[in-house]
Amino acid sequence: MEWSEELVAGLLQAAPDAILVLEGTRIVLVNDRAEELYGRDRGELVGLDIEHLLTEDSRLMLPERRRRIMEGRPGTIGSVTTTIRRRDGSEVPVESSVAIVDTTQGRLVVAVVRDLSERARAEQEKARLRDEAQAHRNQRLESLGQLAGGIAHDFNNMLGVIVNYASFVVEEAESAEPDAAMMAADARQVIKAGERGTDLTHRLLAFARREVVRPEVLDINRMVAGLEGMLRRSIGDKITLIVRPGPDLPPVVCDPAQLEQMLVNLALNARDAMPGGGNLVIDTGCHDDRVRLRVSDSGRGMAAEVVDRAFEPFFTTKASGEGTGLGLATVYGIATQAGGDVTIASEPGLGTTVTVLLPAGSREVPGVSPAEPVPTAGHGETLLVVEDEDALRDVAGRILSGAGYRVLAAEGGAEALALAARHDGEIDLLLSDVVMPGMLGKDLAERLVVVRPGTRVLFMSGYAQPVLHSQGTLDPGVALLEKPFTANGLLTAVRRRLDG
Ligand code: ADP
Ligand code: MG
Repeated sequence: MEWSEELVAGLLQAAPDAILVLEGTRIVLVNDRAEELYGRDRGELVGLDIEHLLTEDSRLMLPERRRRIMEGRPGTIGSVTTTIRRRDGSEVPVESSVAIVDTTQGRLVVAVVRDLSERARAEQEKARLRDEAQAHRNQRLESLGQLAGGIAHDFNNMLGVIVNYASFVVEEAESAEPDAAMMAADARQVIKAGERGTDLTHRLLAFARREVVRPEVLDINRMVAGLEGMLRRSIGDKITLIVRPGPDLPPVVCDPAQLEQMLVNLALNARDAMPGGGNLVIDTGCHDDRVRLRVSDSGRGMAAEVVDRAFEPFFTTKASGEGTGLGLATVYGIATQAGGDVTIASEPGLGTTVTVLLPAGSREVPGVSPAEPVPTAGHGETLLVVEDEDALRDVAGRILSGAGYRVLAAEGGAEALALAARHDGEIDLLLSDVVMPGMLGKDLAERLVVVRPGTRVLFMSGYAQPVLHSQGTLDPGVALLEKPFTANGLLTAVRRRLDG
C-alpha cells in the first residue's frame, strides 16, 4: 500500500498532537503542532537529535529506549511520560507514544507527543482543593472540640454555682434562726446561674435549628424600637446607637424571638468591633419585594478572608472563651429559614454592614402586637399537669397552685388519663409535656379531649420536631410553651390559653 505524500502531510497536520518522525534519534519530519509544542520552527527541528529536546532526567531514559527501538519489531512500543524542554527553557510534561515503522528508507520511529500541562494543571488544582477541604474539615473538628469543651466548662461552672448556693439555702433554712434575706440572696444566685444556662441552651438550639420556631406577622420597626433600650444597655455608652426606621414598611413573617436574637447577635459583633467606641446604625427599608434590616458599625471591619468565612459555624477570630463563632451562623440560619438572605460588606478599617433581607408578608394580615401584660392569676380553675421530669412537674405545680389554680399532677399519659377518669369536677386545662416515655403529649391530648371535650390544651417543650412533621415550624393551632420557662411565662401562657 503506497500512501500519497499529500495524504501523509494531511494526516500530520490534522493530528491534534505533535508528531515527530525520527531516523534513529535524528528528527526527519515534524508537523505544525510540534513546532508549537517545542517552541522551535521546522528548520530548526529537522536534523536535530531528539536528545536536545529532552530535560536532563528524561535524557537518562534515552539509551534504554534507543536499544529497544533498535532491537524492537515494528509496531507500537507504548507510551511514556517525560518532560520536554522548549527553546525558551521552559519545561512541559508530555506523554509520548512511539511506534517503529520499517519503510523502504529504513527503520523510522514515529513519536506522537501530547502536551500534558493542562491535565497536570487540572490535577494540581484538584489536589489543592482536596487539601483545602481537608484543612477546612480539620479546622471545623477542632473548633467543634473547642466549643464542646467551652460549653461543658460553662455548664459545669453553672451547676457548681447552683449546687453550692442551693446547699447554702438548705443549711440556712435548717439552722436555728434562719436568715430570710440571706436565703433570698443565695437563691437569687441559683436563679442567675440557671438563667445563664437557659440562655446558652437557647443559643445552641437556635443554632442547631431545633428550637421551637413560631413565625408571626411582624412590624420590623416596632420590633427594633422595642429592643432599642436593651441594645443600648448592652453596647455600652462609648457606642452611639442610631436607629433609622424606614417609612411604610410591609410586615415580615418571622419568629419575633429569632428576629430579636439576630439583632442582638449583630449588635454584639458591632460592639466587639468597636472597643474604643463608635457608631452603630440600625436602619430598615424596602428592597424590591423584601424588607431590609441593616446593621452597620464604624468598627475595625473584616479582611476578605474573614468575610468569606464569617457565616461558617464556629468560625471566630476572637480569643477562646470570648467568641463562639455561632453569632453570624445563627443569623444566617434564622434569615434563610425565614426565606430571607444575609450579606456582609466590610473592609479593614472601614467598618461593617450586615444586610438582612426578609420576604415581605402581606399587608392585609393584621400585625400581631408584641406581648401586652395580661393578668396571670388563677381563679380556682383545675389544671392537669403532665410532665415526666419530677423537678419540673413540681416547679410547675408550685407556681400554678401559688397563683390560685387547682393542680392535678401526673408523670405520664397513662397516669394522667386515670387521674382524669377519677376526677369529679371540670378539668379546664391540660398542660402537658410533648415527649414523654410511654405516651406522647399529643396522643394524651387526643384521648383526653374525647372524654372531656371542654378541656383546653397547652403543650410545653423545647423542641418542635416531636410536635410537627415540618421542621421547626409549629402548627398554628397548637399552643406551646417553651421550656425552660419562668413563673411569669408559665402563668401568662396558662391564662392566655384559658381565656383565649
Ligand atoms: P463570634 O462573634 O463569636 O466570633 P460570629 O459568628 O458572630 O462569631 O462572628 C464571626 C467572626 O466574624 C468574628 O470573630 C469577627 O472576626 C467577624 N465579625 C463579625 N461581625 C463583625 C463586625 N461587625 N466587625 C468586624 N468583624 C466582625
Ligand atoms: Mg458574635
